[in-house]
Amino acid sequence: MFEKVTAAPADPILGLTDTFRNDPRTDKINLGVGIYKDEAGQTPVLRCVKKAEARLVEEQTTKNYLSIEGVAAYASVVQKLLFGENASIIAEQRARTAQSPGGTGALRIAGEFIARQLDTNTIWISNPTWANHRAVFSASGLDVKEYGYYNADTKDLDFDAMLADLAQAKAGDVVLLHGCCHNPTGIDPTPAQWEQLAKLAADKGWLPLFDFAYQGFGQGIDEDAYGLRVFAEHNVELLIASSFSKNFGMYNERVGAFTLVAKDADTANTSFSQVKGIIRAIYSNPPAHGANVIAMIAEDKELYADWLVELAEMRDRIQEMRTLFVEKLASRGVNKDFSFIARQNGMFSFSGLNKEQVERLKNEFGIYIVGSGRISVAGITKSNIDALCDAIAAIV
Ligand code: PLP
Repeated sequence: MFEKVTAAPADPILGLTDTFRNDPRTDKINLGVGIYKDEAGQTPVLRCVKKAEARLVEEQTTKNYLSIEGVAAYASVVQKLLFGENASIIAEQRARTAQSPGGTGALRIAGEFIARQLDTNTIWISNPTWANHRAVFSASGLDVKEYGYYNADTKDLDFDAMLADLAQAKAGDVVLLHGCCHNPTGIDPTPAQWEQLAKLAADKGWLPLFDFAYQGFGQGIDEDAYGLRVFAEHNVELLIASSFSKNFGMYNERVGAFTLVAKDADTANTSFSQVKGIIRAIYSNPPAHGANVIAMIAEDKELYADWLVELAEMRDRIQEMRTLFVEKLASRGVNKDFSFIARQNGMFSFSGLNKEQVERLKNEFGIYIVGSGRISVAGITKSNIDALCDAIAAIV
């Protein structure tokens, strides 16, 4: 029977990493996948995570199953990070959170919940967006529609196109928004635009779904939650998919969370019972380690302060690379404007390099970036930036 199965295309981003691994060149550079690298080009375990893990191993007494929704203390941490410590949503118990295997797991739970429980079958995603969004929601059977987001001329948000496309969204349709550090453009709405979108969502009756994978990588924990919190002020119902892969550097522990906000505690609990049914039939209950580590860090004043410092180190290093990248390209006499890269947020920017230039960077210089021209700025270091800028100067 298996002879009839045809080969699937390689994943556009993870497939690139495979090709990178097999490239024998020693000076190759991978700016494809979104993984933070420190100045030494490593993706280290955060110091606060190491400390919490040591304590956890010492204190742990059982490997018993978790509940379907996972570690309760973790859910509480997630809600405080999302809505703020003293948020009324938390006090009124309007939010229910399920630990999930990464942000991807949370998005898939959202997709299943929408497909099985809500009247709509339509989700609107930005064009462009993280490459896996379409795959995840299509796998849940949703009809995936796109709204404009990026203006290639101004290298900025195309807010008019976004509004024009979303004008076609019907009441009840789901609208996916990136909480901060939009992947792949690095461009987020301004506070005024967030406000306008939040009000529009309430007026039109959209169901907002926030994908929140980079909290703390833009400006800071609370600053990056601005859009979500404005939405929460204007909209009684929300879905949120959190990922802590990047901000805790715990990529392979699969730390994510699905949060549902309803108009009151009873409605939240009833909807959440369906979420638990969905989880039970997919992976039954989540893995414990990563969530226990994050709960321990968040509940310990000292570890939490350490985490904020380490998060700021990552954020500041990326920002420094953005500025340096722009300066070094200019100093090489590149007569293409890259200044927008210094204005953008988070791990990614759209470089504006075309497919042909991306191919040349790979073939001639061993520099890997995604075909769309998306650069993972978090992979640039002081030791590879000169080679990178030389190569770009040679091809543009
Ligand atoms: N959402 C966005 C926008 C992402 O960029 C990513 C990861 O790159 C994810 C979700 C998935 O996160 P995780 O690795 O925790 O599944």
